[in-house]
Amino acid sequence: MTSKHPHITTAGADSRLAGGRLTIDLDALVANWTLLAEKSKPGQTSAVVKANAYGLGIEYVVPVLWDAGCRTFFVALVEEGLRVKAIVPEARVFVLNGLFAEARPVFEESGLIPVLGSHYEIDLWTRANAESGSKLPYGLHVDTGMNRLGLTVAEALAFSAETRDMPVLLMTHLATGDEPGHHLTQRQIESFQKLRIAFAGIESSASNSSGIFHAVHNGGELSRPGIAMYGGEPLAGVANPMRPVVTLEARIVQIRTSLEGETTGYGATALLERDTRIAVCSAGYADGYLRSASGSGTPLRIAVQKGGEGFVAGHRVPVIGRVTMDLTSFDISDVPEDAIKPGDYIELFGPNIALDDAARAAGSIGFELLTGLGNRYHRRYLYSGKGD
Ligand SMILES: *Cc1c(COP(=O)(O)O)cnc(C)c1O
Repeated sequence: MTSKHPHITTAGADSRLAGGRLTIDLDALVANWTLLAEKSKPGQTSAVVKANAYGLGIEYVVPVLWDAGCRTFFVALVEEGLRVKAIVPEARVFVLNGLFAEARPVFEESGLIPVLGSHYEIDLWTRANAESGSKLPYGLHVDTGMNRLGLTVAEALAFSAETRDMPVLLMTHLATGDEPGHHLTQRQIESFQKLRIAFAGIESSASNSSGIFHAVHNGGELSRPGIAMYGGEPLAGVANPMRPVVTLEARIVQIRTSLEGETTGYGATALLERDTRIAVCSAGYADGYLRSASGSGTPLRIAVQKGGEGFVAGHRVPVIGRVTMDLTSFDISDVPEDAIKPGDYIELFGPNIALDDAARAAGSIGFELLTGLGNRYHRRYLYSGKGD
């Protein structure tokens, strides 16, 4: 693996001291983005890098996407946008979470473009434009069924009939894009087609990762992938076509054998049904490994009985007992004794335990696992720059 990646950049904690390590394959990220760009044709694609590029690191993700040809980025917050601009000043960067009145000067100085979703925000922006004699651009968010941010369809249609400052981007967001065939997606797309006609000539954008895998596209559309680029599943219940990007491994601190009839961990929730070899690993919920991935018998989840699993020496091993702040235990009874020793790594997710499977085992989603990744890990960024 190392020889294929002449460029390994390390960050975060010292590898000799850290409890776990994150390996981020930027070649896989670029390959995923390129596939999404291909699937978005004849439209363009962008990259959603909010929440520190879904936990992977804006400073590492943005440059390789720029080199791959990505020119438009979406962030949630102004400060995230400033970080993108500091790396690639020429990038077009949209800020999704709207506009607070005090933020206008920062937008003016930085060239970030707000995505506005209420008459309150649009009035703030266009009045400031009029007062300063400027025509700073903005994107318009229309709510076609999510009922979160955006003008209603009726408001947007009425707005399109006015002749004042028009947006540079017409945008909507799908609520059920990841559930193939959901009736709400169809309704949202139909509403959006009406809007595209009303805002003729203005660039439009509807598809997140999952939308790219529907027939949502129409010429000229700008897609906005996030999770699929980072290796997550774009569609529920469909084999994941994306390459895994992130591998999380925790180091084994101690291996112990506990006896049948004993319990392990806080709350004594895990009753041992046999003499059990336990690998205690140095990662826990303070590192973003969710407490709801605790082993079976721990009533923290509604949807799934079993908890998380790790992967070590060719074996899948279940979490046993509660995930705690700094430590998580795995039942390694079925792994040959000489196959593992303290200091070895157990994969928590990566090539052997899919990100989304790890998330589901915690009653969560891949987005939450990635964006919650803690800052105590040693981080390794692999990049050959050759697209392999
Ligand atoms: C987060 C977000 C995206 C990206 O969604 P993914 O499902 O991660 O691809 C796109 N558009 C908006 C408005 C978002 O908030």
